[in-house]
Amino acid sequence: MKTANVKQLDQSVQYLKSVGPKRAESFRKIGINTVRDLLFYFPSRHLDRTTVLTASKAFGYVMNGYDGEVTIIAKVTDKERRRYGKKEILKVQFRDSTGFFECIWFQGIKYFYSVFNEGNIFAISSKPELGKFQKLQFIHPDYDRITEEESNSFLNTGKIIPFYRIPKELRKGYIGDLSLRRIIFLAVENYVDYLEENLPSSIVEQNNLMSLSEAVKNYHFPDNKEKFDKANYRFKFEELFYLEILVALRRHNYKEALPGNKMSIKTNLVSDFLNTLPFKLTNAQLKVLSEIKNDMLSAKPMNRLLQGDVGCGKTIVSLIAALIAIDNGFQVSLMAPTEILADQHAKNISVLIKELTALHKEHEIKICLLIGGQKKSEREKKLSEIEIQEADIIVGTHALFEEKVKFNRLGLIIIDEQHRFGVRQRATLQRKGTTPDVLVMSATPIPRTLSMTVYGDLDLSTINEMPLNRKPVKTVLRNDNKLPDIYKFITDKQKEGIQSFIVYPLVEESEKLELKAATDYYDMLKKTYLKNVKVGLIHGRMKWQEKEKVMLLFLKKEFDVLISTTVIEVGIDIPDANIILINDAHRFGLSQLHQLRGRVGRSDKQAYCILVTKEKISGKQNQKELDLNYLSLTQLEKYKATVRLQTMVKTTDGFKIAEVDLKLRGPGDIFGIKQSGFPNLKFVNLTEDQVLISLAKQISFELIKKDPQLSLTENKTVKNNLVTHYSDNLNYAKIA
Ligand code: ADP
Ligand code: MG
Repeated sequence: MKTANVKQLDQSVQYLKSVGPKRAESFRKIGINTVRDLLFYFPSRHLDRTTVLTASKAFGYVMNGYDGEVTIIAKVTDKERRRYGKKEILKVQFRDSTGFFECIWFQGIKYFYSVFNEGNIFAISSKPELGKFQKLQFIHPDYDRITEEESNSFLNTGKIIPFYRIPKELRKGYIGDLSLRRIIFLAVENYVDYLEENLPSSIVEQNNLMSLSEAVKNYHFPDNKEKFDKANYRFKFEELFYLEILVALRRHNYKEALPGNKMSIKTNLVSDFLNTLPFKLTNAQLKVLSEIKNDMLSAKPMNRLLQGDVGCGKTIVSLIAALIAIDNGFQVSLMAPTEILADQHAKNISVLIKELTALHKEHEIKICLLIGGQKKSEREKKLSEIEIQEADIIVGTHALFEEKVKFNRLGLIIIDEQHRFGVRQRATLQRKGTTPDVLVMSATPIPRTLSMTVYGDLDLSTINEMPLNRKPVKTVLRNDNKLPDIYKFITDKQKEGIQSFIVYPLVEESEKLELKAATDYYDMLKKTYLKNVKVGLIHGRMKWQEKEKVMLLFLKKEFDVLISTTVIEVGIDIPDANIILINDAHRFGLSQLHQLRGRVGRSDKQAYCILVTKEKISGKQNQKELDLNYLSLTQLEKYKATVRLQTMVKTTDGFKIAEVDLKLRGPGDIFGIKQSGFPNLKFVNLTEDQVLISLAKQISFELIKKDPQLSLTENKTVKNNLVTHYSDNLNYAKIA
C-alpha cells in the first residue's frame, strides 16, 4: 500500500484528466468532491451478457411469444419526428450485423431527438414488440450509449460494461454515459491502489475477501462475472460487519457496562394481582413473563422487546412487570405513541388494579397521566408528584422525554408500539434514571432476519398465541360497487348490537383533504345508507380530548358506526365493534391494514374485515411468480397492492404478514429502521443475505467481546473507520 499518496485520493476531482473546474462543479452538486468520492460512485448496473441478443435473434424470440426484456447493441441509422394531428412521435432506426429495428417515443420528443445521432452505438433494453409489417419495435426503451471500441470488446471478448446513473446535474455539465465512464475508468486505473483497507487484515484473510482496492476496481470494471460477484460479496460483508459492530457495541454498553437494579419478589403484590384477573394467562403470556421476570431479578439491566399480535395480551404482561418494579420501591413509566392511547392505558390500568388496590391498602398504587393540553397548575402538581415519588406508574407520550420530568426512582420503562420510537428516544429516557429496565412492546412482529440484525441489541420475547376465546377475523375483498350491500350488512348487524368502523385513507398526505373526504362521506352516509343508525365521526384534525370524547361515546354505544380516518389505527379497544370496512384498501400499507383489522375481533364474537377497492383485484392468489424487475412502475404498484390485499384475505398471522411486507417494501421504510440510528444498507438485501448476516454478526460480536473498547492494534482500522464513516450512528453506541 502506498500511503504516501493517500492525500491524492482526497484532492478535488478537478485535477483528474478531462474533468477541470466546470465539470468538478457539476460533480460537487451530486456530492462528489474528491477522487475518493468518485471511486465510490458505483454503477447502477452492468451490461448483462445473458440478456444481450442480436436483432435477428430478438425477432425470433418475439415470434415465439417471448415477452421478457432483451438488450440489443446497435447503431443508429436514421431518425424522424412525425406529426399526427396535435401529437408528435419520434422514430429512431437501428441496425446491427444481423438486422434492423426501431425505437419509438411518444413523450420527451425534443430531448430524445437530441440523444440519438446517426452512427452512434447504443445498448437498447426493453420488452420487444412487433409493429406494422412485422417490424421489431421498442417503445420508450432504456438505453445506454457505448463506444464502438466498447461494443467490439464486449461482443468479442465479453468484457463487462458498467452503466452509471447520470443525474441531471451531470447532464447539465455535459457529462454523459461515455464521458463519465471514461473519467471513472481513468480514476480507477490511477488511484484505486491507494485506497486503504478498512477491514482488519485477519478478517479479510480468514473470510477470503477481496481487498478494498480490488473490490472497487471490480465493482466498476469487472474482468468477468465471478470477479464482480466477489467484489459485491466483499461490500456486503463490510456493510454487515460494521452494522453488527454497532449493534454489538450498543448491546455491550447497555448490558455489560452499566449496572442495573437487582429486584426481587418482596410481597405478594404480584400473585394477588394474578388472582384478581377474570381470566387465566395463556401459556405464551406465562413464558414471556418468566423471561421478563428473570431479567428484572438479575443485576444486569433488561433491554427486551416484547412482540405479539394485536390483542394477544401484551398490556397485562407489561402491567405485571410494572408491579414487580413497584414491589421493589421503583417508579414505572409507560410511554404510548399518542395521547389518546396514553389516556386509554391510564384508564385501563386503573380498572385492572382496582381490586388489587383494595387488597393492598397500605400501598395505594398511584397512576399519573402526563400529556399535552393539561393545565399548567395541574401539570406542575403532577411533575412534583413524580419527583417525590407519589406517582408509581407514570403514563404519557413523548412529553415524558422532556427535561422537566424528574423521576425519583425510575426502575422500569415500558414503551408501547415501538416502531414509532427510535433508538434516540429510548436513549434519552434511559438517562433519566440509573439504568432502568426497558421493555419495548410491539404489535408489528419483526421478521427474524431483521430482529437478528437491526434489533440485535434487544432480547426478544414473543407471544405467539391468542387468548382462547378469539375467533380469527373473517376478511373479504370487495369491489366498491358492492358498497350498498355492505352498508346493508352493517345496518343488519347493528340490530344484533354489533358496531362498525368505516375507514377512509389519508388523501395525499394532507390533513385538510383527509378531513374533507371523511366529512363528505359522513354527511352522505348519514342521509342515505346509514340514516337509520347512529353515526359518529373521528379524524386526525381533532384535539386528543375531542377524539377521546368520540371514542368514549362509541364505547358507550352512543354511535353504531364510526366514520374515521386512520386515527384509529393503533391500540383502541372497543369490544363490540366487530366490523371494519376499509375503503380504498389498495392504498394502505400491509402492516397498516393489519393494525386496522386488529381494531375488531377483540371479544368472543365473530368479526369481519371488509376490504373495498375500485381496482380490479381478485381475492384469490395468482400462482404465477412475477419477476418484479420486468414490471413498469404502475404495474409494480398494482402488483404490490394485489399481494397486500390477497395476503390480508389469506392470513391473520402477523408474522406471515410482516414477512410479506418486508419483501414488498424492502426493510428501509419499516420497523423504524430509518430513525433507529443504523446506517443505510446499499449492498445487502436483508431477505436474501441471511447466511452472510449470521456470519458477520458472529464475527463482529466476537470482536467486541474480546475488545469492547477497540483498543487493540489489530482493531485500529475498525475504530478509525467507525469514527470517519459512522459517526452519526455512534451516538448510540459509544466507544472510548
Ligand atoms: P395487546 O396490547 O397485545 O394488543 P391487550 O393486552 O390490550 O392486547 O389485550 C386485549 C384484550 O384481551 C384485553 O381486553 C385483555 O384484557 C384481554 N386479555 C389479555 N390476556 C387475556 C387472556 N389470557 N385471556 C383472556 N383475555 C385476555
Ligand atoms: Mg396494545
